[in-house]
Amino acid sequence: MKRLIHFILSLLSCIIVSAQQANENQLPYKMEELSSPQFVTALEKSGGVCVIPLGIIEKHGPHLPLGTDLFEAREVAFIAAQKEYAIVFPPYFAGQIFEARHQPGTIAYSSDLMWKMLEETCRELSRNGVKKIIILNGHGGNNNFLRFFCQSQLSGSRDYVVLLFQPAPDQTTQAKINSLKKTTQDGHAGEEETSMMYVIRPDLVHPEATKTQSGEDQARLKQLPYAFTGIWWYAKFPNHYAGDGSRYSKELGKLLIRSDASQLAELIRYLKSDNSINALQEEFSKRAQNPVLQ
Ligand SMILES: [Zn+2]
Repeated sequence: MKRLIHFILSLLSCIIVSAQQANENQLPYKMEELSSPQFVTALEKSGGVCVIPLGIIEKHGPHLPLGTDLFEAREVAFIAAQKEYAIVFPPYFAGQIFEARHQPGTIAYSSDLMWKMLEETCRELSRNGVKKIIILNGHGGNNNFLRFFCQSQLSGSRDYVVLLFQPAPDQTTQAKINSLKKTTQDGHAGEEETSMMYVIRPDLVHPEATKTQSGEDQARLKQLPYAFTGIWWYAKFPNHYAGDGSRYSKELGKLLIRSDASQLAELIRYLKSDNSINALQEEFSKRAQNPVLQ
């Protein structure tokens, strides 16, 4: 009898352990899908690493959805999180997009608000135990804002670090991308983005509309010498369309997404096993509080 009870107990504990493992394996990486207790497990499994895929709501030529950058950035984050677990922040689209205010459907928040949103989002994540935040930018118009945001993390003490993911396809991948590409000019809603959207949400791509507007460079400020001006993009691409979306291919889309995702997974892996950035920032912060007396 004693042996039987022992047998039943060990069988039960096996079932409980494997149920826990199955649960662990099924732990969602999308933050909005985690329950509050699961979030605590996710924190541990992710090593406190969270990816914020940043998109924007803006026109993407005449043929792609307004949220194209959001779809692209999130897809890269999802694939990366499947390779190396990290928490992926819910849809986020408060960024810099003044240059498309003349186009229907653009949501252009003020500079103050976009700054505060991101600062407070990072602070709230940190309050919840996320100490390593990766910003994954899906929108070219955010480049200057996000680099400045990262630089500004040194303006005061913070117990978390913020990194901007900077993918750089290796030589072999780049050669493959070049061999697949059929167009020479591509910057916004062109061959690359149309190909990626074809992989992610083909039902939202409207190929019949690709030629209804021009994505050609209008070069209306080409005589301007040695200067940067905010109107540069409008001068070149007033239709907020740069390239030719009719020349897409699923193979190119998959390659672009997978290449970014595997590099992001590598960054997540690095952050989970290394604390150098947090340590350096802490050291810097202490010295900056009292630069003379040390
Ligand atoms: Zn885009």
